Parts: sequence; structure tokens; C-alpha cells
Amino acid sequence: MHQDAEFRKGVREAIGDPHIRRTFRARMDLLMAKRRSAFPDPEEWDDLRRAATGIRADNISRLPELLEQLEKNCTRNGIRVHWAETADDANQTVLEIMRGHDALQLIKGKSMVSEEMGLNGYLAARGIDCLESDLGEFIVQLAGERPSHIIAPAIHKDRAQVARLFKEKFPDVSYTEDIKTLTGDARRLLRRKFFEAPVGLTGVNFAVAETGTLCLVENEGNGRLCTTLPKVHIAVMGIEKVVEKLSDIPPLLDILVRSATGQSITTYFNMISSPRRRDERDGPEEVHLVLLDNGRSRICQDRELDATLRCIRCGACMNHCPVYSRLGGHAYPGTIPGPIGSLLEPQIAGLDRLGMLPTASTLCGACSEVCPVGIPIPELLNRLRAEGVKRDPEGIAGSGSRRRFREALVWRLWQLIFSRPQIYCVAVFFATRVPAVLPRLFGPWIRSRSLPIPAEKNLHDICLKRGVEHE
Ligand code: SF4
Repeated sequence: MHQDAEFRKGVREAIGDPHIRRTFRARMDLLMAKRRSAFPDPEEWDDLRRAATGIRADNISRLPELLEQLEKNCTRNGIRVHWAETADDANQTVLEIMRGHDALQLIKGKSMVSEEMGLNGYLAARGIDCLESDLGEFIVQLAGERPSHIIAPAIHKDRAQVARLFKEKFPDVSYTEDIKTLTGDARRLLRRKFFEAPVGLTGVNFAVAETGTLCLVENEGNGRLCTTLPKVHIAVMGIEKVVEKLSDIPPLLDILVRSATGQSITTYFNMISSPRRRDERDGPEEVHLVLLDNGRSRICQDRELDATLRCIRCGACMNHCPVYSRLGGHAYPGTIPGPIGSLLEPQIAGLDRLGMLPTASTLCGACSEVCPVGIPIPELLNRLRAEGVKRDPEGIAGSGSRRRFREALVWRLWQLIFSRPQIYCVAVFFATRVPAVLPRLFGPWIRSRSLPIPAEKNLHDICLKRGVEHE
């Protein structure tokens, strides 16, 4: 099925599902309230946001230089750095590392980049078992689904659904809807796997160029287990996650955590700078860092769209988006749903494949208002909409692919009428006196709206008749 049709089908199904509407409304309200209470002082929010935006804008403007510095310092620390131009290259790199250790089991911490790579399916097809250890990811993996939110992958499920899923997948576990017991069951099931798996894989929230340090933000401790118990740790990250200095981390971490969950700090914050040293009691013998480009360096070349790469994946734009909170994450194709997904995914996959996503927005601006790194999401979505119908061989991949002859003709006609007063007057004369000449087929636009009926007399004629001066 074409991606447009698939998206429309997903949207129809989501809107028609009362469980999705109820669940997302309630959970988005909760996350919004948490964020609000985390930033009680608007002045402090402005200062913090200005600082975070400045840091991220500077990082992105110096991406090649910072990445080189990161590679140099990671290598000096004993971390092996791998560059991957495409998702496939990154998958292959992970596979080679696994095969180098005869490893058939991979335990994973939360990583949206590994979702972008389609890593689990890639490794499963080659006989390697991947197990998600983040509780939300574990639940969606059991259900055979994709994450529906970037910080809360199983946010679409209620406790009864999770209880039924656990009972179905683990018949030995007694049925319960008690969240503490369910969490305890998952912990017991996963704990053994941390010791068995020879390789652990995680994402990276920030990578510090000046020290070669990989920072990992989490609440469950599974990230720490993935990075310390297995003999090998593989970290995968999009190249945009690099920051220059260690001193950049506190303001970014502060605004990320408060924007995401309303906490003042997450339960765990891991800083990984090397494999286990001789005098250390734990930690992996090998640490690998896979740096994935997958179109990011192309985005970085565009002085306007490069703001997309500032994103620190807090999820606040989703929580505040009226479209996402109606649809949930599964209606969106691609890895990242919501406003930032609608901006990032078409730039990565091409407007010919995902060019409908920028249209899934009311452009209300709630997303950019809460974005901690000041990404002007509505403006950039508008730019993508324009690119979609503009033929530009130098533009974004797939630019011009959404241009439709009839639609272009209608806009040309509109432009002609509205830019020439005489033609405009003739058009208005006929529209107000012979409404039958107006086009009837406005398509989906009038499915839930009434077609405006032009007044019998227009303002120009009324003014003329009453002798009112006007231009
Ligand atoms: S675009 Fe902004 S609000 Fe949305 S996830 Fe990224 S940083 Fe957070």
C-alpha cells in the first residue's frame, strides 16, 4: 500500500478507536501537567531554553569538527568508533561485532536509533535474539508492536492489557493487574538475561567531544546493567547527539528531564568513558560506538532545516500536540511520531515517501512553545510542505513529488484572480450572482465543514451603492 494511503488508514483506525482517544488524552494531560509544574517560573524557563538552544545550535553548526574530536577522544579512551552512512551499514556493523564474539543474544537498553535502523528484525533474520530491557520497550516487543511514544513506548497500553499480555507470553506467571507485581515479574524475567547475554546495546543521549564520554539518561537501571554486565557494550547514536564540552551537559540534562517527565533528575545518569580498566571490578571488556548518519549530514547543510537536529528527544512536542494526542504514535509511519517525527522523518526518508507527514499538523505552534531547544517546528513543517510541491533538484530528497497538476492549476488560477483587480471583480460578480459556477468538489475539506455561500452582494457593490468611499 502507498504510504499516503497507509497513513490515512492508520489515522481513520486511530480516530475510530475510543480506547486510543481516551488513553492518549488522559496520559498527555498528565505529562503536560508534570511539565508545567516542573517550570513554575517563566523567566527561569526562558533563560534555560535560551542556554540550551544556544548550545545545541552551536553543536550542530560545528558538527564535523566535533565529531572528529569525539572520535579522537573516544579512541584514546579505548572506545572503538564505527561510522555508518546508512541504517544498513549500522546494522552490519552491529552484526559483525556480534559475530566477532560468536554472540547469539543481545540485550538492549532503550534506543530510538536502533528502531530507526530496524535492528531487531535485521538481527533476528540472521539468527540473533534481541531482547528489550526497558520495561515499555519490553512490553511493546512482547506485543509485536512499535513504540508509540519516544519516552514512554507502551503509553497506549493500560494495566489490564499488559496483564493479559504477560499471562499469554509467560503462562507460569500468575495473572495480576497490580503494577508493582507486574514490574516485579518483568524484572525477574529480565534479570537472568542480563547475565546471559554476551553483548549489551544502548542508545546515547549526549556524547561529549572534549572527553570522549557517552551519556545515558534513564529511570530503570536497565541501561546501567546493559552497559556493565555483558562483556561487550555497543552504543548506537545519531551523529547529531554530539556536544562540545562536559559543561554543556548540566543545562541540557536539566531541561531535558524536566520537559520529558517533570522530574528534577532521572534515577540514573550514566557516563561511559572507556571499557573496564585493569583496576575496575565491573564494566565491559569492549565498548563500541556506532555513529549513524542516515541523512543527517544532508540536513545539516541546510541553514534553516538544520534546526531539526537540535532535538534532544524529550517528547514534549508530542505531549502538547493536538494531532498526536488524538492519534497516538502508531498511526504515524516511521520511527518517531508527533511533530518532531513529522519534521525529521520526511527529511530522512524523502518527501516522496513521507511527504504527507508535514501536513499532519494544525500549525498551532504548541510544539515550538514547549520545545526546550527552540525548534521552530511549524515554520519548518511549512517549508517541507512547500518543498513537497516545488521541483528542486538541489532540494530535499523527493522534493516536488507531491505536486499535482490539478491542484497547481487551481492555485495558479487563484493567484491570477487575486493579483488582478479587474479579473477579481469579474470573478466576484459571477460568484455572487451565479453560485453554480463555483466548484462543488472541495473534496475532504467539506466532509466536516459547510461550503461557504458567497453573499448576494459583495462589499464593493454595497459601498458603491451607498456612496461610501473605498479603494
Ligand atoms: S522537538 Fe523539541 S520538544 Fe520535540 S522532542 Fe525534540 S527537543 Fe523535545
